[in-house]
Amino acid sequence: MKTMGKVLIIGAGGVATVAAHKVAQNPDVFSEIMIASRTKAKCDRLAAAVEKATGYKGIRTARVDADNVPELVELLSAYKPDIVVNLALPYQDLTIMEACLQTGCNYLDTANYEPKDEAHFEYSWQWAYRERFEQAGLTAILGCGFDPGVTSIYTAYAAKHHFSEIQYLDIVDCNAGDHHKAFATNFNPEINIREITQKGLYWEDGRWVETEPLEIHKDLTYPEIGPRDSYLLHHEEIESLVINYPTIRRARFWMTFGQQYLKHLEVIQNIGMSRIDEIEYEAPLADGTGTAKVKIVPLQFLKAVLPNPQDLGENYEGQTSIGCRIRGIGKDGKEHTYYVYNNCSHRAAYEETGMQGVSYTTGVPAMIGAMMFLTGKWVKPGVHNVEEFDPDPFMEQLNKQGLPWHELHDIDLEL
Ligand code: NDP
Repeated sequence: MKTMGKVLIIGAGGVATVAAHKVAQNPDVFSEIMIASRTKAKCDRLAAAVEKATGYKGIRTARVDADNVPELVELLSAYKPDIVVNLALPYQDLTIMEACLQTGCNYLDTANYEPKDEAHFEYSWQWAYRERFEQAGLTAILGCGFDPGVTSIYTAYAAKHHFSEIQYLDIVDCNAGDHHKAFATNFNPEINIREITQKGLYWEDGRWVETEPLEIHKDLTYPEIGPRDSYLLHHEEIESLVINYPTIRRARFWMTFGQQYLKHLEVIQNIGMSRIDEIEYEAPLADGTGTAKVKIVPLQFLKAVLPNPQDLGENYEGQTSIGCRIRGIGKDGKEHTYYVYNNCSHRAAYEETGMQGVSYTTGVPAMIGAMMFLTGKWVKPGVHNVEEFDPDPFMEQLNKQGLPWHELHDIDLEL
């Protein structure tokens, strides 16, 4: 069995920063590391920070535009990674998958594909690559962050060890942190705002039920945190979980938001700054010689003026708590409830990697997924969501790599 491998991380943002630290903390698995992104200087800074923090030597860097398949193919052919960990944006999923197929590389990501001009995400675009990956003998692991990612692995673990039939699944995501900014998003603002402002969606009795954006909400109590107003959102892992666990009667996703955050979001929407279509704007030229008509996407412009999620870590207090609340028929034939979750401290994440908890809870599972592949535990040609693999070795690593989990049995799930 193969136990050492070459990894290429694409992206040098918050999540990639955490993943790069964690990869370098596991040199017995990751024998060579390259970080490539649009801006090479960022990759160089990241590589230097990781080498300083971990003692790992020889991290390579490169510039690549991951929207451009020929550029990717050139990089992948030259570096020949065993696995490409895509931590750029969901817009780049298909181009990177295409380049992996052309060069014989395996693939992992943390968010499903979204077209730039439509705030809509679903797996069909990536599932369409199944046969090609299968025929090429390559493994593609989809959605290996926290949610999607660990939440789906928690569900697989519950199905394997505790339930003969999962009937009700509620994924609950609480960020009880305080970054002391009036408004900021915890990961890429463009992707984050697109996700939250779209209609809610959940699965019930064999069909999808749509809600208005943030229409349904209720107080849920989170461990070590207490009650927080939690909003029903559409979240991508539900789509594959209800297919892979057909006994699920209802599956929903909840996320907490504070009133201040929602007020800002409402204003952003009301004044048109969440728009994703292009508008024309007459901008003064930098050299003062006149003006030029430019096209800008308001949400992308907003991203440029909002706080950078990577800079939130320093003053971030509090913790995140993400988990799965499950009701169904246990292995003993009786009805049971089960809650499996992780709490992650923003401060501890920052002290270890320089990033806040949301980047940490995404970057650590991305590294573990790559580790699962390189150590031969998750090798399955085709395109797969994480719940299709054995959850046990992944759950074991979560405890070792900084995201320990806890279980509660037969409690009131509040849902
Ligand atoms: P950031 O915006 O901090 O970083 C994105 C990185 O991707 C930047 O380094 C950027 O480069 C790079 N990038 C963007 N476009 C290209 C391109 N065309 N070619 C090469 N590189 C590119 O994002 P985050 O780190 O916060 O998020 C990364 C991913 O993680 C996103 O897909 C997000 O949806 C996902 N995520 C998943 C979660 C989960 O639990 N599953 C939770 C949170 C995030 P540059 O800086 O040069 O522009």
